[in-house]
Parts: sequence; structure tokens; C-alpha cells
Amino acid sequence: MKSPLEQTPARAACEYVPVPAFEDNYIWVVSDGCNAVAVDPGDAAPVRACLAKRGWRLVAILLTHHHKDHVGGVADLLADAQVPVYGPAGEALGPLDPFVTRVKGGDAVHLDAPALDFTVIDVPGHTRGHIAYFQPADSTGTPHVFCGDTLFACGCGRLFEGTPAQMLASLDALAALPGNTHVHCAHEYTLSNIRFALACDPANAALHDWSREAAALRERGVPTLPTTIAHERAVNPFLRAGDTAVQAALTEALHETVPDRLAAFSLMREWKNRFR
Ligand SMILES: [Zn+2]
Repeated sequence: MKSPLEQTPARAACEYVPVPAFEDNYIWVVSDGCNAVAVDPGDAAPVRACLAKRGWRLVAILLTHHHKDHVGGVADLLADAQVPVYGPAGEALGPLDPFVTRVKGGDAVHLDAPALDFTVIDVPGHTRGHIAYFQPADSTGTPHVFCGDTLFACGCGRLFEGTPAQMLASLDALAALPGNTHVHCAHEYTLSNIRFALACDPANAALHDWSREAAALRERGVPTLPTTIAHERAVNPFLRAGDTAVQAALTEALHETVPDRLAAFSLMREWKNRFR
């Protein structure tokens, strides 16, 4: 039997820190105030700086997909400390392969410290084997999701390896998470995504409000993330492909018929690629 002192203390809330990297990436670092997990460390230097500044120790790495700006710092971080790395079962990670524990949709990832439990969700589309890590509840009851380059604030990832139908299904899976889920996206694309969203959904009052709020945040150099699932359902045109107002705006702007939400999604994704 454990003595009272050995029993697990009440869980303090973890900190979720967006560490800026490259032009506009965020490497999310989650810590209990002592031990830390890095999600998609594309570069080791900003992660090392974040850990050193706060006196945190890296204990695990989570990877959502194989792109270099998400995995490029892993080898250097492993040279500092040999920590477990979790990554997508369906993607090759080159020289990292021997160090990665492969996970796929439905798998559980458990970490002791920080005390974190994730369910893996398959979200193909941006890449073929892209995964997301869903934490059903932190110590305060708030859910979190780390979705890499699948769902962005007011946008979604480009389709490099998947089909529009795959990406739409992946976004549907994320949109079905609890509304209060904090969404930790991997890029600060929000302002340019909002400009596009306004073209797709010009009469959306919540979107206009968010446009002003997000601009004010960026003006002060503050991240626009995390967003929440409920907020994205309200303002993200890629989650609103079934909305008749969005479909009407697409018909008007692109002079295309929009028979269903998959067609609306495909047209939007295509339009976004060339939108300036
Ligand atoms: Zn990517």
C-alpha cells in the first residue's frame, strides 16, 4: 500500500505553449511545470530555448505527419535526450524510423509525466498517413487536440497526398469533437485564412467579429491559437461546406454549380490554392 505522500497528487493544469519556429510554424510544448512534450518539432533550437528558459525537461515527442517542418528537429532533440517518439503508422520517416513508436486511429498514447492520455485519430488528406492526437480532458476538464496541418484556424491544410473526400472526412472527424476542445494548429495562418473565409462566407457575422479580434491579436504579436472546435464550426468555411450561404457565395464567385458539400469543399480548397 502506498503511503499518503506517495499517492498521486492532484493534477495541476498543464501549460500549452505555442513555440514559434521558421516563418509561421508553432511547435506546441505541453508541460506540467517540470516535464514537457513537444509536438511536431521541426526545429530543435526554439524547443531547446523554450525548455531552458522555463527549466523544463523533454520527456516525449509526438509527430502528426512526415513533413520536414514538423520532424526536422527530432534527431537533434534525441541527441540531447533519448525520449520516446510517437508518429504515424502510415508514413515513412527516413532515418527517424527506428526511433518512432507507430500509432494509428483508435490507438491510445499514455504518458506518466506530464500525465497525458491521447486517443489517435486518422486524418488523411494533407498527407496520406496524417494523424491527430486528442486529449479527452485535462485536469480542468478541457479537451485538447493536436491536429498538425489538417485543421487551421479558419482554414485547412493543402491536399498534397489525399483526396478532397478524405480531407472532408478528416475535418468531419475533428468537427465532431466536443465544442470546447482546444485546437492546437501547427501554423499561424489565421489572418490570411480569414481573408479567404470572408470571400466564401461574406454574410457570417461571427466571422467578421473574429476578423477584427484576430487582427488585434496579431497587431500585438499574440498567437491567434488555440482556437476551439465550436469556434471553427461557426467561422471556418471548410467546416461549413454544407451551408447554403457558403454554397451560394461559391456559385456566385466561381460561376460553378455546387451540387453537394463535397463539391463545395473541393471548389473551396482549389480556390484557396490560387487565392491572393
Ligand atoms: Zn505539412
